[in-house]
Amino acid sequence: MVETLVLIEHDRHCVKRPSLHGITLARQLGGEYALLVLGQGLDEIAASLVSYGASAVVVADDPALTEPLADRYATVIAEAARKRDSRTVLGTSSTFSKDVLPRAAALLDVPMVTDVLAIEEKNGSTSYRRPVNAGSMLATVKLETDRRVLTARATAFEAPAADAAACPIERFEFDVASLPNGMEFISRDQRISGRPDLTEAAVVVCGGRPLKDKETFERLVGGLADGLGGAVGATRAAVDAGMAPNDYQVGQTGKVIAPQLYIGIGISGAIQHLAGIKDSRVIVAINKDPDAPIFQVATIGDLHQIVPQFIDALRRG
Ligand SMILES: Cc1cc2nc3c(=O)[nH]c(=O)nc-3n(C[C@H](O)[C@H](O)[C@H](O)COP(=O)(O)OP(=O)(O)OC[C@H]3O[C@@H](n4cnc5c(N)ncnc54)[C@H](O)[C@@H]3O)c2cc1C
Repeated sequence: MVETLVLIEHDRHCVKRPSLHGITLARQLGGEYALLVLGQGLDEIAASLVSYGASAVVVADDPALTEPLADRYATVIAEAARKRDSRTVLGTSSTFSKDVLPRAAALLDVPMVTDVLAIEEKNGSTSYRRPVNAGSMLATVKLETDRRVLTARATAFEAPAADAAACPIERFEFDVASLPNGMEFISRDQRISGRPDLTEAAVVVCGGRPLKDKETFERLVGGLADGLGGAVGATRAAVDAGMAPNDYQVGQTGKVIAPQLYIGIGISGAIQHLAGIKDSRVIVAINKDPDAPIFQVATIGDLHQIVPQFIDALRRG
C-alpha cells in the first residue's frame, strides 16, 4: 500500500491546528497515511490524533528530540520514511517545515515541492499548483519520480474531520547515538501571549509603517485586536522598524494567514504583504491614500453577505 507520512507540528502541549490541514492533502493523494510526531512526552498529543483516519500515529518520543534541532529531526523523519517505505513525506508550510523538510528531502534524495495549493491527477501522474513570484503567478509543476517531499499551504486545504475510528499509536524506535550533533540547543526565547495564534485566529489586525513606534503600535493595533479577540500581525516595514517582533510578520517572508476578518492599519498593500493575506475572507483596509494597492484586494460586496461574515468572525474571535 502506498503511504504518505504526514508531519504534525505541536507546541509541546497541543497540536498546531494548521499542520492538520496537510491531512486533507494526504487524503487527496490517495492511499494510506500515517501521522508522524516528534518530540518528548508526546502521549497526550498522540492521543489527540487518533481519529483523523490515519493508519497509525507514529511517535518519535525521546529526550534527544526535546528541542526541534533541524538536523536531528530531519534524520528521524528520513529514517521513518525509509523504514515505513513511505512514498510521500508531507508537512504544511511553516517556519518549522522550511527548516526541517528540505533536509529530510536531501537525506532521502527525493525532490520537494513547497507551498502546494492544489493537485491534479491525470493519466496516473500528479501535478502540483504552487505560488511563485510572491503569489502574483501560479506555477503547475510535475515531478519525475513518485517519491517526494511536499509542503501544503494550510490556507488552501480545509481542516480535516476527526471522526474516524481510533487508529493505533506506534512508537518509532531509532538509534539515538547515530543522530547528527551538528547543532546544539542553547536557549529558548519565547514570547508568552494571551492572544490567539496568528495562523489560527479568525480575526487578525495588522499594522504598518505609519504606526511609527512600539508603543503606538501596541496601543492601536494591539488595542483593536484585543477588543475584537483577534491576533496581531505586522508588515515587514513595521517589524524592521522594531515596532513588532519578527514572528508577527505577515507576507511572503512571514506568515501566510487566511482569517475570516483581516484589518490592515496603515498598510500600503505591497505584493509581498498581499502574498500572505489574500485568502482572508473579508479584508478591511484603513489607509488615508485612496490609491493604495491594498484597496485592490479589500472586500467589495453585498452587505447581506459581508456583515454576517463579519459578525461570525467577531463571535469566533
Ligand atoms: C524579498 C522581499 C520580501 C518581503 N517580504 C515581506 C513580507 O513578508 N511582508 C511584508 O509586509 N512586506 C514584505 N516586504 C516588504 C514590502 O515590499 C513592503 O516594503 C512592506 O510591506 C511595506 O510595509 P507598509 O505597508 O507597512 O509600509 P508602506 O508601504 O510605507 O505603507 C504605509 C501606508 O500607510 C499609509 N498611511 C500613512 N500614514 C497614514 C495614516 N496616518 N493613516 C492611514 N494610513 C496612513 C500610507 O498611505 C501607505 O499606504 C518584502 C520585500 C522584499 C523585497
